[in-house]
Amino acid sequence: MSATLIDGKARAARLRETVARAAEKLKHDEGFEPGLAVVLVGEDPASQVYVASKVRLTKECGMRSIEHILPTDTNQADLVALVEKLNADPGVDGILVQMPLPKHIDSDAVVLAIDPAKDVDGLHPVNAGRIVLGKPGLVPCTPQGCVILAKEAFADKTGGDLSGFDALVLGRSILVGKPVALLLQNENCTVTMAHSRTRDLEAACRRADIVIAAVGRPRMVKGDWLKPGACVIDVGINRVPAPEKGEGKTRLVGDVDFETAVEVAGAITPVPGGVGPMTIACLLANTIRAACKRRGLAIPE
Ligand code: NDP
Repeated sequence: MSATLIDGKARAARLRETVARAAEKLKHDEGFEPGLAVVLVGEDPASQVYVASKVRLTKECGMRSIEHILPTDTNQADLVALVEKLNADPGVDGILVQMPLPKHIDSDAVVLAIDPAKDVDGLHPVNAGRIVLGKPGLVPCTPQGCVILAKEAFADKTGGDLSGFDALVLGRSILVGKPVALLLQNENCTVTMAHSRTRDLEAACRRADIVIAAVGRPRMVKGDWLKPGACVIDVGINRVPAPEKGEGKTRLVGDVDFETAVEVAGAITPVPGGVGPMTIACLLANTIRAACKRRGLAIPE
């Protein structure tokens, strides 16, 4: 048996098309261009790449990108003052402060300063609380992407309805594991959250119809841990040595051992090309959501 590949790249492209259509309609009907402000502090190369992609795709979707690139030694008070200025700017619909921040800045304090109505990363406690309450709000992007891909995997069988499925979320981080578990519960899954203290992880995994792996451990989840036919969403992004590509070369792998898992799963996301592309697409979708909500408009179809 060989699992169906869940094509995150294609699904993300479709979501960005929806975003672009919505942005066009808002411009045409309501006379404004949704704006996403991105703040980068320091020169972390990975963060620079992420920010460049976010800026490019924001513009490609016909939205306004507002960039603030600040030096590493920016102090916390200045960063919070910038966030407050963006909160007050009516042309800014979404604010994203790229994480991680330099060590001398308290990232919790910065996130707390963001207006929850503009918190397109979904990290503010108000938005986290809304997920717990099952109320609409701005949902963190990677967890949102995971749920969209799981629904995609069940599109033919249940029309994307995840009700009643047993889901195992491996990892309980604030950024991924916890919100994804809550979102799946809101989709009527029966959710188990596993972590480093879980006693029999393999057995918990084998019971699951849906496995979300977000541990940051290369190829940890093996094919024989899976229930045959399970849907596997691999969030992990791990760089490992790839001597087959040449000396000193590396490649990206997920938290799932793809080669063995693909033989047992019913559907699986590749790494790269699975959850990764969904994250930015969901950020852009959140910007449209925030822009409409603040203005009391319905989200254009
Ligand atoms: P964290 O390090 O914050 O959390 C890892 C979680 O995995 C923790 O809850 C930890 O448990 C659990 N864990 C670690 N080791 C084990 C183990 N041996 N057995 C069981 N559980 C274990 O990571 P993140 O949630 O931030 O990220 C997870 C992965 O997802 C990373 O590879 C990251 O790069 C990737 N990622 C990908 C994104 C994307 O866009 N595709 C976005 C964000 C992250 P405990 O709580 O007990 O310590």
